[in-house]
Amino acid sequence: MVEPLFCNIKNNSTLYRYISDMFGVCSYFILEQDKLIIIDPGKFDDSVFAWLNKFNNLRNIVYITHEHFDHHYNANKVFDLENTYFFSPSEKFDIALRDIRKNLSFYYNDPIETVADSKMFESFLRVIKTPGHSEESYCFVYDNILFGGDTIIDKKYLVLKLPGSNKNDYENSINLLKEQLVKDSIVLPGHGEFFDFEKW
Ligand SMILES: [Zn+2]
Repeated sequence: MVEPLFCNIKNNSTLYRYISDMFGVCSYFILEQDKLIIIDPGKFDDSVFAWLNKFNNLRNIVYITHEHFDHHYNANKVFDLENTYFFSPSEKFDIALRDIRKNLSFYYNDPIETVADSKMFESFLRVIKTPGHSEESYCFVYDNILFGGDTIIDKKYLVLKLPGSNKNDYENSINLLKEQLVKDSIVLPGHGEFFDFEKW
């Protein structure tokens, strides 16, 4: 079930979350007047597609925090919806999404090759490249909200031992985020509950 988390009265937007039964991936949805931003289309059940259908008059824009397949399991199905675009941060990112070894789906015998036809290169969210958990990890910022993917995440879920992980890169990414984020930022991570960045 897609559940509302926050409302922003200033710009009339609502933020929703769906928690997948596959690895507990959190997908987020920012509903604005003229568009729906979808962050990490993991494994969705029918209720999510029914919910998405309610907004088929809006433009959908899909963001993916990193290449690991659990964060874009159903992306191809979402790309098939009308008026849907994928924000592509780089060509390397797009290649990693369809590489079943880089996205790790090969190792789970569940090959996922995510390919978007309609791409967008300009972003509605602030995009910060944050390698470390994986080579192609990104964080996205919306107002005072940080979509942390598997990068800024409760430490009990933090993994830096996968193929493509790099501890030095991770430290640099964390320092970069500390420089760039406003005070009182709230983190919406790829797994688990949201929390204050400063208390992390
Ligand atoms: Zn991951």
